[in-house]
Amino acid sequence: MKAVRFIEGGRPPEIVDIAKPEPGPGEVLLRIGGAGVCHSDLHVLDGEVPFKGPFTLGHENAGWIEALGQGVTGWKEGDAVAVYGPWGCGSCHHCQTSAENYCENHASLPTFGGGLGSDGGMAEYMIVPDPRLLVPLGDLDPAQAAPLSDAALTPYHAIRAAQAKLTPDATVLVTGIGGLGQMALQILKATCSSRIVAADISADKLETARKLGADVVVNSGAKSAEEEIRDLVGGRGVTVALDFVGAQATIDLASSLIGRDSRLTIVGLAGGTLSYNANTMPYGSQVMVPYWGTRAELIEVIALARSGQIKADIETHDLDEAVKVYDRLREGKVPGRAVLVP
Ligand code: NAD
Ligand code: ZN
Repeated sequence: MKAVRFIEGGRPPEIVDIAKPEPGPGEVLLRIGGAGVCHSDLHVLDGEVPFKGPFTLGHENAGWIEALGQGVTGWKEGDAVAVYGPWGCGSCHHCQTSAENYCENHASLPTFGGGLGSDGGMAEYMIVPDPRLLVPLGDLDPAQAAPLSDAALTPYHAIRAAQAKLTPDATVLVTGIGGLGQMALQILKATCSSRIVAADISADKLETARKLGADVVVNSGAKSAEEEIRDLVGGRGVTVALDFVGAQATIDLASSLIGRDSRLTIVGLAGGTLSYNANTMPYGSQVMVPYWGTRAELIEVIALARSGQIKADIETHDLDEAVKVYDRLREGKVPGRAVLVP
């Protein structure tokens, strides 16, 4: 079967033929319906995360159950499912409470998940090591649903964790209106009534933010951006800042705008640094560095999609187009989320 493979950091992915996998005992073989193209893959391809290749990329996956390994019950061939991406040990306290994204044995596991250290979903088939990592999709189309497992789950987790501060009188700043940021805007609209300020450096993305219900849009590349937002929020400041870029400029912008008793959440991995000393961060402020989301939250995200409250803006491509699609993502030319469909 055809697969998009990570070889080593600093090299583009390669599209090669590999053997169709067979599910071992306890495993599930999935026929892939779609694999989302996430900006995190660019950090992997650039060698910023020390992964050892080769393995098949794609950590945002959905499809249909093709075959059940020995001993797997309760599922049937043909069921449409999303794959929960951050694979933990399954037995530590965090994993038992469904927060495998914070698995306590993370450091000693052989993979972060399919597509992040071991074979993922940019192929015709994929092995899922345990059915606990599957969430039923009902009548959602797997290609449409694939981005829910990361582009929506990650902001959902960050937003849920900030929920107590997302009151109707609060202002939330969302920076980076790409794959994750666009889902964040929809999740905020569906789960709270705070005022939403969206920031990006692309005029097209700001137009998208407006369509998705942002109350105010700001070009954060402009010198006046900080002042513009400060005029809006006054002395209270931004109550919740969600940074889906994580560059120095975006971290600086958010940390200068949050007020007392606020929350700064840095999701993006663009390499910026947050510095702290007793006088830099406002009193009462909290910082969160979230990673992905929990299994239970993926069930909730899929419920939001099934009820029509959130929907990824997808464009679909063949596996053969992977290199071109990653280049377009790097250049900021993917309007929403690209999904590879085998
Ligand atoms: P994307 O490429 O789809 O979107 C990025 C957006 O940021 C684009 O709209 C771009 O115009 C905008 N942008 C770039 N530089 C900017 C700047 N200086 N100021 C304002 N806006 C800027 O990316 P994505 O797939 O949404 O991923 C976003 C980030 O989140 C990536 O760094 C990715 O690795 C990270 N991520 C983190 C987690 C986690 O669990 N922490 C999970 C998934 C993705
Ligand atoms: Zn664990």
